[in-house]
Amino acid sequence: LAALRLVDVVKEYPGHPPVRALDSVSLQIDRGELVAIVGPSGSGKSTMLHVMGTLDRPTSGRVEIDGIELSKLSDRRLAAARARLIGFVFQQFFLLEAMTALENVANGLLYSGESKSKRLPKAARALSRVGLSHRLHHRPSELSGGERQRVAIARALVHDPAIVLADEPTGNLDSVSSESVMELLYDLHHEGRTIVVITHDRDLAAALPRQVAVSDGRLVTPSPALVAGGAR
Ligand code: ADP
Ligand code: ADP
Repeated sequence: LAALRLVDVVKEYPGHPPVRALDSVSLQIDRGELVAIVGPSGSGKSTMLHVMGTLDRPTSGRVEIDGIELSKLSDRRLAAARARLIGFVFQQFFLLEAMTALENVANGLLYSGESKSKRLPKAARALSRVGLSHRLHHRPSELSGGERQRVAIARALVHDPAIVLADEPTGNLDSVSSESVMELLYDLHHEGRTIVVITHDRDLAAALPRQVAVSDGRLVTPSPALVAGGAR
């Protein structure tokens, strides 16, 4: 079953001439997949993240998440669908400094319709899932980089989204923390989560079960090196 489908997606940025950042991209990601979208700077990864994440509408083509065709939705319904269907993880974590880890994660439930009384217990369970039961009341400044990213992952997961989009999730981390964050993503994949990691890092991509390589706004078949590296 498809968690995400892009069908003939084109994204052009206005200009003279316009910049075609995505050129007829079609891609299906099934439920439970852990996929790397990999390509060099300027290849179209950010644009793909924006289009997949419904932060930006494609110039043409279709985007479906969990069977819902998003191009048909009004901006208001699209925002609601985004909050329900997608969990975002960013390189810069984007945690609120004035809040504890627990409160940051509970914030991930604000648009879920979850009653106020259930938000904190659910957030505590999500933090426990990422190995941070002992850090519930710490603020981001009191946590390591790897811990901050695990808080952000808990926040992305707490509302049980159809898909998690992680943009360079280890980009701000040292190699030890990076490894623990990637292991966590692997564990979540084994639990059936659908996770897309956007990265320029070929080694990181090669360690994941599936790679989708992007070059000049098009999908390319993976190079033999990537395939061999990905065989685990
Ligand atoms: P990546 O994330 O792989 O670095 P991007 O999606 O940011 O790639 O960019 C893909 C192409 O689209 C590049 O040529 C970039 O310069 C161009 N581009 C991205 N965003 C814009 C924009 N807002 N306006 C014009 N061109 C853009
Ligand atoms: P990344 O390192 O994730 O690819 P970039 O530094 O390429 O990010 O882009 C950062 C932001 O700048 C993106 O949101 C993108 O839309 C915008 N951007 C990138 N290239 C251009 C461009 N040529 N013109 C205008 N905006 C751009």
